[in-house]
Amino acid sequence: MIAALMPTYNRADLAFERGEGCWLYTADGRRFLDFGAGIATSSLGHGHKHLTDAIAEQAHKVMHVSNLYRVPQAETLAASLVENTFADSVFFCNSGAEANEGMTKIMRKAQHGNGHPERYRIICFEGAFHGRTLAMLAATGNAKYLNGFGPEVDGFDHVPFNNLNALRDAIGPQTAGIIIEPVQGEGGVRPAQLQFLRDLRATCDEFGIYLGLDEVQCGMGRTGKLFAHEWAGIAPDVMSIAKGIAGGFPMGAFLATEALAKHLYAGTHGTTFGGNPLACAAANAVLDVMLEDGFLPEVDRKARRFWHGLVAIAAEFPTVFEEARGAGFLVGLKCVVPNTEVQNAFAAEGLLSVGAGENAIRLIPPLVVTDSDIDEALAMIRRGALRCLPSDLSVAAK
Ligand SMILES: *Cc1c(COP(=O)(O)O)cnc(C)c1O
Repeated sequence: MIAALMPTYNRADLAFERGEGCWLYTADGRRFLDFGAGIATSSLGHGHKHLTDAIAEQAHKVMHVSNLYRVPQAETLAASLVENTFADSVFFCNSGAEANEGMTKIMRKAQHGNGHPERYRIICFEGAFHGRTLAMLAATGNAKYLNGFGPEVDGFDHVPFNNLNALRDAIGPQTAGIIIEPVQGEGGVRPAQLQFLRDLRATCDEFGIYLGLDEVQCGMGRTGKLFAHEWAGIAPDVMSIAKGIAGGFPMGAFLATEALAKHLYAGTHGTTFGGNPLACAAANAVLDVMLEDGFLPEVDRKARRFWHGLVAIAAEFPTVFEEARGAGFLVGLKCVVPNTEVQNAFAAEGLLSVGAGENAIRLIPPLVVTDSDIDEALAMIRRGALRCLPSDLSVAAK
């Protein structure tokens, strides 16, 4: 008989009862170092007092009122995001896929409003991941996810990642804009070259199309800046965020310049839950912490410490790992042996990680990870690698 919980995931046989910082504890007393962070989502780790207090306090006052009324917590959060980014205006929703739907809609609507209703197509990249709604399946363009779900939603074209000529060739009279992840997460932890991002910005300006960034995974401090595109010194026209924004509370958003946002006037887009007082209280608490003096530089420093260790381990075990890759704390190891085998070996050492495309493993800890957590993780990764060596080599290495 089918499980009551629909069997859409290959779940590990682990159930966590509580967490503290970067550690998760099972009911039977085992503890795991969480370098998955609920897929780059538990940005402040587990049981962060400022965040849990904010949620508890808001839950006691009022959780939900609907967008029929003003929501002061949402106004505060939007103002803070506007102050700290390229954006002039923010729309709150509930997930990454929904944020990307909104990003697509605002690009189309702005082109339409500017007299170009024919410009509705979006150029996306091979290896992308934008979510699981019907339109975002088409934006993702991965046959594995599309198969069996009927005709693909029209309006998305795909070109190779980091290839400017292919991108320019794909721009046509119907192109509304481009959507790219500055660091591909699910697709295999692949960063876009900074120069490629700058070239995309210039190309969008040249053709009168919009640059949309999917920072659902790489944003919210994960690369050591609040948003990953800041490393390239560019500004998009619109950006989607989710995952880490509320530290594990479900939330998404898209942020846009006024030139785009003015086209989503009252009645053109909406959501019941999006930006409710509880979600916004959580996100405000997360931003309080991330915008504290020194928090992001500290993420950058710690990520470099981890990176140096990862690179050394990858070099030490060429039969297990091809390379370390990624940016900031969105990093990983491209594996030679099957990544599931590596993931299991890490778990046997007490380290949680997340698989990714191109046979990679993601190591994406909470941003509050400590130096000693990092050193412990590196030791577990090294011992995990020993477990994955072909048996004759394993004897020699020990
Ligand atoms: C996770 C993810 C999404 C989808 O987010 P959901 O909240 O699962 O809908 C979209 N884009 C990127 C880059 C992601 O990592």
